[in-house]
Amino acid sequence: MRKTKIICTLGPATESSKVLRALMQQGADVFRLNMSHAKHDWVREIVPRIRSIAAELGRPVAILLDTQGPAIRTGDLRTDLQLKPGDIFEFTVRGARSEETNSVDVNYDGLINDISAGDTVLVDNGVIQLLVLEKKENRIRCEVLTAGTLGSRRHINLPGVRVNLPPLTQKDLDDVRVGAELNVDFVALSFARQESDVEELRRVMRTLGSTAHIIAKIEDQSAVAQIDDMIKAADVILVARGDLGIECPMEELPIIQRKIVKQCLHFGKPVIVATHMLESMIENPVPTRAEITDVANAVFEQTDAIMLSGETTVGRYPVKCVEVFDRVARRIERSGGAGYARNTELHDSRQKTVAAAVSLANSLPHANLIIFTRHGTMARYVSNMRPERAPIFAFTPSERVCRQLALCWGTHPVLLEFTDDPNSTIEAAEKYLCEARLTQAGDSLVVMSDLRAGGAQVDSIQVRQAKDAANLTAISADESMMD
Ligand code: PEP
Repeated sequence: MRKTKIICTLGPATESSKVLRALMQQGADVFRLNMSHAKHDWVREIVPRIRSIAAELGRPVAILLDTQGPAIRTGDLRTDLQLKPGDIFEFTVRGARSEETNSVDVNYDGLINDISAGDTVLVDNGVIQLLVLEKKENRIRCEVLTAGTLGSRRHINLPGVRVNLPPLTQKDLDDVRVGAELNVDFVALSFARQESDVEELRRVMRTLGSTAHIIAKIEDQSAVAQIDDMIKAADVILVARGDLGIECPMEELPIIQRKIVKQCLHFGKPVIVATHMLESMIENPVPTRAEITDVANAVFEQTDAIMLSGETTVGRYPVKCVEVFDRVARRIERSGGAGYARNTELHDSRQKTVAAAVSLANSLPHANLIIFTRHGTMARYVSNMRPERAPIFAFTPSERVCRQLALCWGTHPVLLEFTDDPNSTIEAAEKYLCEARLTQAGDSLVVMSDLRAGGAQVDSIQVRQAKDAANLTAISADESMMD
């Protein structure tokens, strides 16, 4: 089984039932809906379509709604503008644009306060670079540093500038409401800059009655500067290399990625590495050698998930991209990982018990980790320890938890009703694994459950031997499921 999970962003190339089914069969674990482009009607159609195909295939597949966030954009232009080095160009606010000057309005009036002379403005993924010369009333006068064609509604990045936009725009709030209504499993907060941004989204989600997990997208210098607090505040972290590579010096990007993955493993939070992983496959059926190596690097770092964006929204070979991810991940996982999980912080006795179970599984040949989890917490602890070989089978009675665990490294989530008799639940789990040929007779099963001892609940680790399907006998012990 592959350990590294695969996220596919959906778009025109992948919205049909046929392609969705092929993506799932090829191994997609999570589908991302990018609200910078998706319309509500489309989201309302695609979510039930994904769920129904996943149910048909018996695969736990999660849905991630990604907000647009507080993005700064240029306004509409009647015709594209050709900019060349040395030109003077103005960004204007509050409609101060005039046709006589080389200028464009921006969608954020506060830009005039946030920006200063000497700052750099990057437009359209950093293609056009400008230097701020001075501010005058509602106009920001700049010198063009690199040539480019400026079209309408282009994205603006301001490296190192503290932008005072609210963390969630009205559009984000409307989008999140639709996500909550459709019971999406993850909501990603774009341009999360500080801990309080994540807390704000959490408050909104709670008001909407949603238990979706929050993904903080790390895309600028301010989030990087307070990465530990961001990791602690969020449920999951996403290394958004597209914007991050513009907002930070490009040579810092690999260092930032590695640091974030390491810190997520340290604090026990799932982490996603995203953007441009197989960019050339938008047009070509095979990746470049550099792309294969980039994917391999993320897998070696033992990130929980790797993500496809344009490759699967508009690309010509979306299913092939998943196949490439799958092949590279499986091969690199066999060659070992960076082992950053060795520095995982273990706060409480439960985490220490998990560490002991993982160490036990690492020491046994043909071991499987079997976790019974109601909220997913224990399974995430196990995944975070990055067991060396043992697959993690996480049994849960909750469909929501089952889907959310689809994102976690090495975890195979299984929906299972927990009965009042813990033994029969363990037997049912064993039976499932045996029948699905996920275990073989004689394999070691490192089972994590809690045990009732003298009226108290205690965490327990049991080692059992997998039996033949025909030979699953009741085991007498007084256990109940944990978590
Ligand atoms: C990114 O910038 O890498 C990213 C994932 O964000 P988005 O695609 O929403 O711009």
